[in-house]
Amino acid sequence: MTTEPGSRVFDYTIDGDDVVVSLGEDWLRFARENDAPELSRESVIGHCLWEYVAGEATCELYGVIFRCVRDERHTLVLPFRCDSPDRFRFMQLAIESGEGRELRIRGRLLREQVRPPLKLLDRLVTRSSDPLAICSVCLRVQILGTTWVEAEEAVERLDLFAFSELPPLDYRVCGDCVVLARGLGADAPASGA
Ligand SMILES: [Zn+2]
Repeated sequence: MTTEPGSRVFDYTIDGDDVVVSLGEDWLRFARENDAPELSRESVIGHCLWEYVAGEATCELYGVIFRCVRDERHTLVLPFRCDSPDRFRFMQLAIESGEGRELRIRGRLLREQVRPPLKLLDRLVTRSSDPLAICSVCLRVQILGTTWVEAEEAVERLDLFAFSELPPLDYRVCGDCVVLARGLGADAPASGA
């Protein structure tokens, strides 16, 4: 099953201090569908965006992108993944400068595809042991300290089926995504890995 390209749009606006000032209805619906009902309009508006972003490297990457868009006053478009345990989701994030230092941020679902459920991406499972690095942009998982592979491949190669509890996910940014962001014009950090 696939959805119509661009059929769902998730938008929000942040002010010059990265505080969320408005949220689209579809953004809230998407949070509810993805086991994050705590993200309501009341709980998000007026709060700093970084409270909701997982991982220091992710904040750093988006911080650099935001600064670039604000300074250059242009729009930057970044592909990213926002999978759920049973869906591959290929998305696009458009960051556009608005009034003053305000930014209008629009996530667009380009393609969605059903996958066999992958517990590793389930927000609700119990986790223990050493964390596993996952790229918050492309959702690939780091194995053997250097290689980034699709989550399914990581589960197989690390034999995570054999574990009764899954490792916690440590959200980072892989080298390829740093290079990608830099290619878009953002002077990204040297490496988030
Ligand atoms: Zn990546």
